[in-house]
Amino acid sequence: MNAFHKLGLEDHLIQAVTDLGFETPSEVQEKTIPLLLEDDIDLVALAQTGTGKTAAFGFPMLQKIDIDSRTTQGLILSPTRELCLQITNEMKLYGKHCKGLNVTAIYGGASITDQAKQVKRGAQIIVATPGRMKDMISRRLVDISKIEYAVLDEADEMLNMGFFEDITEILSHTPDEKSTWLFSATMPKEVSLIAKKFMANPTEVTVGHKNMGSKNVSHEYFLVGARDRYQALKRLADANPEIFSVIFCRTKRDTQKVAEQLIEDGYSAGALHGDLSQNQRDVVMKSFRAKQIQMLVATDVAARGIDVEDITHVINYQLPDEIETYTHRSGRTGRAGKSGISMVIVSKSEVRKIKSIERIIQKEFIKKDVPSGMEICEVQLKALASKIHDTEINHEIDPYLNEINSLFEDVSKDELIKKFFSVEFTRFFNYYKKTKDLNSPSEGSRSDDYEKDDNSARFFINIGSKDGYDWMKLKDFLRDTLQLNQDDVYKVDVKESFAFFNTDAAHKDKVLEFFTDFKQDGRFVNVEITEKKSRERNRGGGGRRSGGGGGGYGGGGRGRNDRSKGSGSGSGFRSEGKSRRSDSGSSSKSPRRSSDFKPKGGDFSRPRKSRR
Ligand code: AMP
Repeated sequence: MNAFHKLGLEDHLIQAVTDLGFETPSEVQEKTIPLLLEDDIDLVALAQTGTGKTAAFGFPMLQKIDIDSRTTQGLILSPTRELCLQITNEMKLYGKHCKGLNVTAIYGGASITDQAKQVKRGAQIIVATPGRMKDMISRRLVDISKIEYAVLDEADEMLNMGFFEDITEILSHTPDEKSTWLFSATMPKEVSLIAKKFMANPTEVTVGHKNMGSKNVSHEYFLVGARDRYQALKRLADANPEIFSVIFCRTKRDTQKVAEQLIEDGYSAGALHGDLSQNQRDVVMKSFRAKQIQMLVATDVAARGIDVEDITHVINYQLPDEIETYTHRSGRTGRAGKSGISMVIVSKSEVRKIKSIERIIQKEFIKKDVPSGMEICEVQLKALASKIHDTEINHEIDPYLNEINSLFEDVSKDELIKKFFSVEFTRFFNYYKKTKDLNSPSEGSRSDDYEKDDNSARFFINIGSKDGYDWMKLKDFLRDTLQLNQDDVYKVDVKESFAFFNTDAAHKDKVLEFFTDFKQDGRFVNVEITEKKSRERNRGGGGRRSGGGGGGYGGGGRGRNDRSKGSGSGSGFRSEGKSRRSDSGSSSKSPRRSSDFKPKGGDFSRPRKSRR
C-alpha cells in the first residue's frame, strides 16, 4: 500500500502520486493532509519552499472540491507569476485523474481576455497573483463569492512585496465560511497579523523550527576584504567545478555587474533582476533550468518563486537586510531531500550579522577559508581526471587514431598522462600562481587600522542612526548618490548622530565636492576628511557633532597614491572589471573557459533599459 493511502487520499489521487514517483509523504504533507481532509479548518503552516507544500494543500483541495460543478471553489494566491505557473502545473499533475478538472492561472503580463475566457469555461480552482486577481475582480471577470478554500501561499513573500491591501480586498469578495490555509516560510509579525485578521482559530503546523532553514542546508561564511568580494566569488566557483548555483546580490545594479563580470571572465552566468524584460527573464530561467548556465546572479525579488531542483550552492554575494530573506535564499538549495550549501561572502563589518542569522536559524555557520590558488588547481585537476575517466569513448575519432598514435609513439603512458593533465593544470596554475591570500585577518587585527592605508580616504558625515541609517543603508545611500561601484564605499561605521566611511583616495575629491552643498530633508549633509582613527574615537567619545569644520578634520592634504591611474576613472563597471580581472593584479585572464557551458538564446546579461 502506498504511504499516501494512510493520509486518507482517494484512489485517483494516489494514482497521480504513483505516476509522479512520490514514495513517501514529506513532513508537511504528513502533518497537514490528514488535518485538512478530516475537517474544514483554518490552517497556518510554516514550511519552506521545496518541502512539498503545494501537494500539502493541493491534494486536500482536489479531494474536497466538487469536480462536477463548474463553480470556482478554490483560490490559491501566490506572490509571483513564476510561482503561480508552477503551482498551476503541479495542481494539474496532482489532478490528472480528476476528469473535468479545470485549474486556471491568473497573473499579470499575459492577456487578461484569454484568462477570463478560461475562467468562464468553469475553473474550479484559480491560482492567482494578487495584482491581476484584484484587477479581474474589479472588472467582474471572476466570481469568487462561492469559494470554499482559500490558500495564501508564501504569505511572508506576498506581504514583503506589499500585497497586504490587495489580499484584504480580494478576500473581502469571498464568503466568511470558507476555510483559509496560510503557508509561509517565516513568521514575521505581519503574517501573524494576517492570520488574526482573516482566520478563525487556525491550527498551526510547523515543519522544522519557526524561521529555520532547511535541515539539509549547511551554512558557511568566508571573511574577505570588502574589495576582494568578486575575486572570492570566482574562487568559490573555481573550487567547485560542478557548481549549479544562485548568487544573490542586494541591488539590481550589483546583480547586473556581477553577472556581466562573470560572463566576461568566461564563466557560465546569467542575470535575473527587475530591469530585464519578462522575455529576457524567461530566457534566463529556461537556460538555468536546462543547466545551460551554471551561475544565476539574482536579486531577491526576481528570484522569488524560483523552483529549480539540484541547486548545489546558494552564494550570498552580499548579505540581505532582513534575516528572513536569508532563510528564503538558502531555501533555494537542499531541496527534495538533497543536501546543499549556503555560502556567505562577508567583510569584517558584517560578521556580527552572521551571528544574528545563526540565532534565528538555530544553526551554526562554519567559517571557511577562501581556497588558495593551489587548492583550486588541485580540485580542477581531480575534476578533470574523473571527467576523463567517466567519459564514454566517441568512436568518431577512430579514423584519426593512427596518426595520433604515431605522434605519441615515443611517449610512455605515464608521460602522456602528465602531458595531458598539464594542459589544464598550467592554465589554472598560471592564473593563480601570483594571487594573494584573500582571507581577511580576523577582527581587531592590525591591518584593520586604516591609518596605514594611504590608498584609502576616511570620511566623517553628519548623519547617523538617529536619521534612520544603519551601515548598510548608509553604504547604499553613498554609493547611489555618489554613483560609486559596489565596494567603493567600505568600513562604514554608523554612530547615533554621525558616521564614518572609507573610499579609495582616488574618489576623495569627488566625495568632498558632491557634499559641499548637499541638503537632505532641508538639512545640510556635511562630509569631511578625517585623519586618524584615534581622533575618531575622541570624537565618538565627545558624542556631538557641531556641523562646523572643527580643527583637525578639514585637512585631507596627506600624500596619496592614486590607484586608479591607468585603469580609467574608476567609475563604471567596465573599468573596474578590467582592473580586477586577475586577483594578482596582473593582466592574465580568468582561467575559466566559457565554451563548457555556453548559454543559448542570446545575451542574458543585457537589461532592457540602457544604463549609463
Ligand atoms: P513544493 O514545496 O511544493 O514546491 O515541492 C517541491 C518539489 O518536490 C516539487 O517538484 C514536487 O513535485 C516535489 N514533491 C512534492 N512532494 C513530494 C514527495 N512526497 N516526494 C517526492 N517529491 C515530492
